[in-house]
Amino acid sequence: MKKALVTGGAGFVGSHLCERLLNDGYEVISLDNYFTGDKRNILHLMDNPFFEVVRHDVTASYYAEVDEIYNLACPASPIHYQYNPIKTVKTSVMGAINMLGLAKRIKAPILQASTSEVYGDPHVHPQTEDYWGHVNPIGRRSCYDEGKRCAETLFMDYHIQNKVRIKIIRIFNTYGPRMHPSDGRVISNFIIQALQNQDITIYGDGSQTRSFQYVDDLVEGMIRMMKTDDEITGPINVGNPGEFTIKELADMVIEMTGSASKVVNLPKPDDDPIQRRPDISKAHELLSGWEPEVALRQGLEKTITYFDNLLKSGNFDTW
Ligand code: NAD
Ligand code: UDP
Repeated sequence: MKKALVTGGAGFVGSHLCERLLNDGYEVISLDNYFTGDKRNILHLMDNPFFEVVRHDVTASYYAEVDEIYNLACPASPIHYQYNPIKTVKTSVMGAINMLGLAKRIKAPILQASTSEVYGDPHVHPQTEDYWGHVNPIGRRSCYDEGKRCAETLFMDYHIQNKVRIKIIRIFNTYGPRMHPSDGRVISNFIIQALQNQDITIYGDGSQTRSFQYVDDLVEGMIRMMKTDDEITGPINVGNPGEFTIKELADMVIEMTGSASKVVNLPKPDDDPIQRRPDISKAHELLSGWEPEVALRQGLEKTITYFDNLLKSGNFDTW
């Protein structure tokens, strides 16, 4: 039985990845400090004897004998990563060093959950992996963007210097059930606002674009990336190229929830990228024809159902 270590395993993406790996017959260790993750995301997996839960911070070293490492530990939403920016940089950089050190020692392949944010506010559209990005090194988003860029550098250097088997994927905006209800990301915000008939908060005029990927498509891409030959190191974009303005998203959520919400326009945050869309040709070519299968409307339906149930459960305020 293969063993996988998932850092950030109690988070939104991590919990889906742990579930998929267990279903695929892996023994799985979830390592998390519960900063933005929650045990309730993995509660349904706890009865599985092949699932192990470790409370640990990736800024400290950790040792376990595993066959594969998925490094996801890092707050991902602007509200969370800006809460303690120094800790965000430490998590990305020291977390990468600690997990790469482990991968080197146990000779396991390691996948890095990098991000489209390495492209910053991009001047190349759609974004291809050879674009170096347009990132402000001293802005509000820098702790996340530059932390993730430095982590990519470390991954490449451990690969070149120490022959560590690395797999870097650049993840574009991903959504689905188990997103943290108060992490302020646009899809969770709009759905929660719409379900409660509250104002839908568009930052700026809503003309900025994002490309939204459903979590199951991302997890499939991660699993396929881990299975690639050693010479495939990435970085590889993993995202859904369907591009929508934030205004279009707001209209879609209002229509799908039958909400009485009105749209209000609030100031746009500094350094908020104007447009973002992945070029996924590399993923298609190198990950056995991978491409996203869940359209935005389909994924929104599942996410709306999740938040609707959470609101009706009476537990919403405890998250
Ligand atoms: P999340 O906040 O739900 O999950 C992150 C997890 O990491 C949480 O469980 C959190 O408690 C844990 N964590 C944070 N700091 C830690 C530390 N120092 N030590 C141990 N655990 C720690 O976010 P997510 O959306 O699931 O993102 C998962 C990964 O994917 C992140 O690395 C993120 O940067 C990357 N990513 C996500 C998206 C997206 O749209 N969701 C896009 C690009 C990249
Ligand atoms: N956004 C918005 N209203 C919200 C939350 C976000 O208009 O309530 C906008 C935000 O300014 C950005 C886009 O939606 O332009 C995506 O934001 P998110 O935080 O989800 O992801 P990121 O900016 O990291 O891509």
